[in-house]
Amino acid sequence: MNIIHVNQVRKQYQNHLALNDVSFDIEKGSIFGLLGPNGAGKTTFIRILTMITAPDSGYILFNNEKLDSHNIADIGYLPEERGLYKKMKVGEQALYLARLKGLDRDTAMTELKKWFIKFDITSWWDKKVEELSKGMAQKIQFITTIIHHPKVLIFDEPFSGFDPVNASILKQEIINQRNNGATIVFSTHNMESVEELCDSIVLINNANIVLDGKVKDIKQRFGTSLYNFDIEMFDDYNQNIVEEMKHKVDDCLIKDGHLSGKISLDKYLGESYSNVSDKHLKAETTNMIVNDLIKIGNIVTFNEVLPTMNDIFIKTVTANKEEK
Ligand code: ADP
Repeated sequence: MNIIHVNQVRKQYQNHLALNDVSFDIEKGSIFGLLGPNGAGKTTFIRILTMITAPDSGYILFNNEKLDSHNIADIGYLPEERGLYKKMKVGEQALYLARLKGLDRDTAMTELKKWFIKFDITSWWDKKVEELSKGMAQKIQFITTIIHHPKVLIFDEPFSGFDPVNASILKQEIINQRNNGATIVFSTHNMESVEELCDSIVLINNANIVLDGKVKDIKQRFGTSLYNFDIEMFDDYNQNIVEEMKHKVDDCLIKDGHLSGKISLDKYLGESYSNVSDKHLKAETTNMIVNDLIKIGNIVTFNEVLPTMNDIFIKTVTANKEEK
């Protein structure tokens, strides 16, 4: 089920089209990546979703109803540019922000204390914000973003400014929030975290969506049709089949009773295998290869070499530039 449905959303600034009738869905309880190069239109979309600005045309449905000011409490937003009052004390400020989110004083105090203990930062309560490092300030803002249990959490570059240990704590907390039912929208240039966390993505480039779908499906779509394999050979393996196989695979290696290498579908078929998007042909060919391999030994590994999300991002954005 979708929690957010974006329909033909358009936003034009004076002389710049920031979103060109974009449409997509965000599934409830998923981690959704909003990706794109600088200037693509991501922040514009976030500003529309958080109702800071309105679209020129198009609309957003939130839980199947038109997004409306009463949804403000349903959405937590951690912007990339974070603003805390430097002279205020950390605890005081966290309390103030939690109250702004609609929590009464007692609940806000209880929740904040819980989080300060969890993040092991109780000693910060009486410090001034200006004494905090960027990462420390981010932790405070993270807490005040999620404290009122919003249904949708938007994080803009949440890991920037964090050391690896704290980034990992934050990552785990994002997953916890999702496991507790929240939907996460996060905007980032860090493709490793996309690979690790996101269920689905949209890639926006020059105000248009150039790629969208589940990360798993997108990676398959960009599949190389090159397979890594490793077989533990039978003691009485058929020499002839192995000899034949050697001509068909790249980086063929026989070592410690194992045969390994890389199989490219077109080379294996001995003809041009160009239609990688033809799922049936691909499945038939891989089945045929597996059938050959099991005559030699037990399959330990057989998997397609898939591009990283970083490769896919660069490839799509560059291709898009060339088309223009
Ligand atoms: P992203 O977040 O993907 O980097 P933005 O949504 O911030 O991109 O910006 C998309 C485009 O719209 C950019 O070219 C930016 O310069 C332009 N833009 C953003 N906000 C404004 C504004 N308030 N007035 C004019 N142009 C804007």
